[in-house]
Amino acid sequence: MPEEKYEFKGNVIVKGKIRCETGLHIGGSTEKFEIGGIDAPVLRDPFGYPYIPGSSLKGKMRYLLEWDMGKVKGDDGKPHNCEDEKCVVCRVFGTSAEKGKAGPTRLIVRDTHPTEDTKKMWKNLDTDLLYTEHKKENIIDRITSSANPRDMERVPKDSEFDFEMIYSVYDINDNGKTDLNNIDYVFKAMNLLEDSALGGSGSRGYGKIKFVEKKITVKSKDDYKKTTEGKTTTEDEIKKVVSEYLNI
Ligand SMILES: [Zn+2]
Repeated sequence: MPEEKYEFKGNVIVKGKIRCETGLHIGGSTEKFEIGGIDAPVLRDPFGYPYIPGSSLKGKMRYLLEWDMGKVKGDDGKPHNCEDEKCVVCRVFGTSAEKGKAGPTRLIVRDTHPTEDTKKMWKNLDTDLLYTEHKKENIIDRITSSANPRDMERVPKDSEFDFEMIYSVYDINDNGKTDLNNIDYVFKAMNLLEDSALGGSGSRGYGKIKFVEKKITVKSKDDYKKTTEGKTTTEDEIKKVVSEYLNI
């Protein structure tokens, strides 16, 4: 067990919308799918609506940050994990290292469901699929130059999903400011994702997303005790506000 003492100070809650600027494909199971001869269906919730699992969002943010910070080592393709207690990736996103010293995982990324406006938009789509579009992808045979079509299902451009991320702030006796400074990396990973792609076929134009209408709230232990709403802030002010409001 780590020797550090962690004291929970409060949470930073980031909410907003993910806007799809191109079609989005997050793959679901092909087993239950029988409509339209789709080879690659999208993931849906039990009510039939496509959604973005928190694990997909968090996984891609972590992946991009690992590359950005030079944490991709070796050639086994596995996610980064280490025993460095100051490792930003392991602190923020969590570690499965047996002797991990990074402490509790700081970031929770919720499943991301469509907004009510998007559900309305989907209901009026003129396609042969439920709430989505059908995209034919051709793979050209290199010898015969014949096209082998593959049927992809996509969430259409301009769809929006409500996202929520929670970053927990702990006071740490070796370096009390580390959790505070690491908040920046959550926003950095979001920025990296906007210039990358979410889901499948990103290199072929799918999955360009933007985080819009971000609302940031800082809640202290006192807020949870008194069920008060916390303090709102902006991305620019966040570290100042967290430092003052959570007293770290
Ligand atoms: Zn690490």
